Amino acid sequence: MLSLIDTIRRRGGIARGPDLQRLGFTRTALARAVRAGTVDRLRDGVFAAGPIVPDVRAAVTHGGALTCASVLMEQRIWVLPEVAGPHVWLGAGRHGRAHPDCACVPHYYRGSPPLGRADLETALLHLRLCAGDEAFFAAFESAWRQRLLPVAARRRIREALPASARWLVDLARHDADSGLESLLRLRLHLIGLRLESQVRIVGVGRVDFVVDRLIIEVDGRENHDGETQRHRDLVRDTAAARLGYRTLRFDYAQVVHDWPSVQAAILAALRGV
Ligand SMILES: [Zn+2]
Ligand SMILES: [Zn+2]
Repeated sequence: MLSLIDTIRRRGGIARGPDLQRLGFTRTALARAVRAGTVDRLRDGVFAAGPIVPDVRAAVTHGGALTCASVLMEQRIWVLPEVAGPHVWLGAGRHGRAHPDCACVPHYYRGSPPLGRADLETALLHLRLCAGDEAFFAAFESAWRQRLLPVAARRRIREALPASARWLVDLARHDADSGLESLLRLRLHLIGLRLESQVRIVGVGRVDFVVDRLIIEVDGRENHDGETQRHRDLVRDTAAARLGYRTLRFDYAQVVHDWPSVQAAILAALRGV
């Protein structure tokens, strides 16, 4: 005989009541399992068993599916800004349900939320609606770099975007080292600067960006060994200077929180000021 708990677990820990009934589990059996505490009723007609990611549990309990930044961050895709609370796809015109400890960020985007979580492509499209073009672009490049977006997926995402936003996909590359690189390239593109990315310079190594004789490096790394890294950077900058390059370096806080200074410094360097 089928075990109710095993059946729900095999479906990823969440199952709809009608599907379980089709497999022979009666309403009475489901109600009994809920009373016994072996199965949870997350909302009307949706049951859970076994371990479930807390954000997914919250999203389903709230009446929708996990999506947007929450799904992307689960897959270690770079998301800006950092988000708090599960982003929940409810579908257009649907209302969320109150539940204890709710920190959900509801999204009323069209379509029918699946059970559990939205797929990666949907989550990326939702991120653009939720957090804007920059966030979408950086996450898209991050997902591509991690080989999560084969060509067919990129094409589908492009098609699903409004025509006015498709250039974001056309500008994207697979080799951005960090979300900061993505942001910097996008922002400089918007003021008409065309950068070469991931350029190998003999005697220096691979640098993030080159425009004219200016090298731009962004430091998206975390927890690197400060002193050793600083020494390596100085050696590289010296080698580049000997070849006639000037190097500007920016970190996360500068790119994210003080972009006007970063842009002004780059433009001034290019003017030779
Ligand atoms: Zn909630
Ligand atoms: Zn969102």
